[in-house]
Amino acid sequence: MNISFYTLGCKLNYAETSTLREQFEQAGHSIVEFGEPTDAVIINTCTVTENADTECRKIIRRALRTSLQAFVGVTGCYAQLQPEEIATIEGVDAVFGSKEKFEIQSIFKDFQKLDTPQIHVSDLSDVEFTESYSSENDSRSRAFLKLQDGCNYNCSFCTIPLARGESRSMDFPAIGSRITSLIQSGFREIVLSGINLGDYRAPSGEKFIDILRFIDDSNPAARFRISSIEPNLLTPEIVELVANSRHIVPHFHIPLQSGSPEILRLMRRRYKAENYESLITTIKSSMPDCCIGVDVIVGFPGETDTHFEETFAFLHQLPISYLHVFTYSERENTPAAIYSGKVPIAKRKERTARLRNLSAMKKSEFYRSQIGTERIVIPETYNHETGLWIGWTENYVRVEFPASPSIIQAPVRVRLVEFLGDTVRAELLEQPMLEDNHTPHYIPILL
Ligand code: SF4
Repeated sequence: MNISFYTLGCKLNYAETSTLREQFEQAGHSIVEFGEPTDAVIINTCTVTENADTECRKIIRRALRTSLQAFVGVTGCYAQLQPEEIATIEGVDAVFGSKEKFEIQSIFKDFQKLDTPQIHVSDLSDVEFTESYSSENDSRSRAFLKLQDGCNYNCSFCTIPLARGESRSMDFPAIGSRITSLIQSGFREIVLSGINLGDYRAPSGEKFIDILRFIDDSNPAARFRISSIEPNLLTPEIVELVANSRHIVPHFHIPLQSGSPEILRLMRRRYKAENYESLITTIKSSMPDCCIGVDVIVGFPGETDTHFEETFAFLHQLPISYLHVFTYSERENTPAAIYSGKVPIAKRKERTARLRNLSAMKKSEFYRSQIGTERIVIPETYNHETGLWIGWTENYVRVEFPASPSIIQAPVRVRLVEFLGDTVRAELLEQPMLEDNHTPHYIPILL
């Protein structure tokens, strides 16, 4: 059978779709590109996406345009939370919950179109961890490795604990062999991923810092990026370890959500704005060139102009590098959905635009501060028209540099020379590292 996949949402969802693809391939099915004629299509959805249903309908229509008789299965966070709603969408044959996502082939033996859609969604109380990893781009230079899933926190705006269940983690002893096999497949950067990654707790008791120590001690031929970590879980020990690491790059993505103490309290976040500020100061004092990204939500219920200005001023004075700005939207079955003080949509949009402008300013400041420095880049994509390679430095600056289209996609040393806006122009300083070179070339030692 031919089967295609479509993924919405976060990197973890992409990693999980990769696992699904592998499962189907191992069972002898052929994977085809989404949009090509197929016998079945699986859509892995997200609940964060606004208008998830509209998105879903659009994708189903696209799939059926080329294959009217294709079996359509929908899974992911949206499927877990709104299965009945999805089952009413024309063309859907089955809905699979978060637990059933990896059991599709045991539920269906043949994937014939059905007259009545089936719903296979169970509660998540005893859901187990399923290992997943994926590559972000065709060059296979960067892989995402899922180490943790679910969340035990109860932020008042978030549906993830409902959609993905309680926190659970990958077996610690399995991590080393998975990293080895990703490196053997050619990946030179591995992004350590999870829903609440800092909450990693192996069945054998190891914590997130033990993974970082293990990586450093085993000296693998790759560099590692921490995808996102809650501020209350980013301990001084982790910061110190990263500051002295040859393998874990100086880049953190740390959700803040609001700079207003009052809004943070309503959001039920587990830290105070002053803790966040001192964390950023600690990071920057040990790693001045560290890139720091911040998630922030605007338009949360009760957020007055004064609260928003507090957030704006807080972010403005912090030495951060970019923002991911989310416009608040009500999510069913979350406490915040029924909070009073709803912010008018126009105001939410206005605040989003202001923070996006601030983000552009922060990014440009950070990029400019890196001009003249030498960095390590893994060439990712080559533009034949311009003759330039594009890649990311260890501290997450997007650079472009001229080099032969045939260079090995292994770490190279560059000097950053000119700020161009979205990227920085760089010049190549030396040839790619040898594949068997495990010395600290994967990232420079931070001095
Ligand atoms: S920590 Fe993150 S995933 Fe967990 S409830 Fe809060 S926002 Fe959601």
